[in-house]
Amino acid sequence: MKKTFILLAALLATLTLAAQTENTEITAVAAGAYATQQDSYTPSFKVDGKNTRVRNVILLIGDGMGHGAVNAAMYANGGSLTMTNLRTFGLVRTQSADNFTTDSAASGTAYATGRKTKNGFVGKDTARVNIPNIPELLTPLGYACGVVSTDDLNGATPASFFAHQAARGDKEEIWADLPASALKFASAGTQSTFESMPVLTQDAIKKTFTVVYDPADPAVAASDRLLYLPESVHLDRGDYLPATTQMAIDYLSKHSKKGFFLMVEGARIDKHEHANELPETLAETLDFDKAVEAAVRFAEKDGHTLVIISADHETGATILNGGNLETGFVRTVFGSGSHSPMMVPLFAFGPHSRDFGCTQENSDVAIKILGLLGARK
Ligand SMILES: [Zn+2]
Repeated sequence: MKKTFILLAALLATLTLAAQTENTEITAVAAGAYATQQDSYTPSFKVDGKNTRVRNVILLIGDGMGHGAVNAAMYANGGSLTMTNLRTFGLVRTQSADNFTTDSAASGTAYATGRKTKNGFVGKDTARVNIPNIPELLTPLGYACGVVSTDDLNGATPASFFAHQAARGDKEEIWADLPASALKFASAGTQSTFESMPVLTQDAIKKTFTVVYDPADPAVAASDRLLYLPESVHLDRGDYLPATTQMAIDYLSKHSKKGFFLMVEGARIDKHEHANELPETLAETLDFDKAVEAAVRFAEKDGHTLVIISADHETGATILNGGNLETGFVRTVFGSGSHSPMMVPLFAFGPHSRDFGCTQENSDVAIKILGLLGARK
């Protein structure tokens, strides 16, 4: 069912014009250039919600993915997404230590460490002291940990899982934190970003990671610690996000007998909501849902894997205010060009999924993950 969104374009253009308000309104019609409707996946729920042992956790963060983005993507996709097919859902409050409206650094740090901090801070508390992140707490216990993102690796969300810097914009310092980090697997943007780092940093990373530009590189199989850098993390990246999610699951499974923790970020939902670009927001959310599917399929087969899907904050004050289930037409209003303080949705699947079926702080999510994996602080 590959119906494109280019349906009834002329009619919809008329409707949209008729409905125009002083807010920006954009239809999904233009999304045909980026996205087609895709099948969603519904797993069996045999192990879902059971209080059995959790061996692996996959945390998927849709940057900026609030209710507006999820609603618009779900209805544009004919009414279903893999994430909305799941049976456990909750809400997440995202305020940072110094701001009612968080940024990705403070919220990423909350998800990565269980502690709230100031906007702009990566892996540091409000007094600028390093806070141990989930990979640092789990690796000594025998877990293998990884991150995958469609941002640059120095982006605030992936950085929160390996770096400790008081300024999220300090790219070189963040990359320089990678060699001493606890990550076993990392993949994010990009080859050219890596090559723009100081040679000393590049060398230090090459000494501690096998660095590949191609997931089919034979060096992957022989490696013990991997950094895979794609050429692009923009919408021309193909199936990078779902494929690399699968690659990370396979890699971390193979490199740990105890279990693994993987964070996967769909980073560009946020970026397109900042620009109030609906078609690209939909394309990014649908692509993210493909990564969710890869995680859910693995968890269903494995039986000891908990999958958590949420967001670091809402972006764009995105509201769905019209649509058509049959054509996939959706109409949204963007109320802002920045982040909003709205609670974000959380979906969960696997053992102990119900622990997350409540209203909670972003920092609580990390505390619960650590507790389930036996690293309660
Ligand atoms: Zn943002």
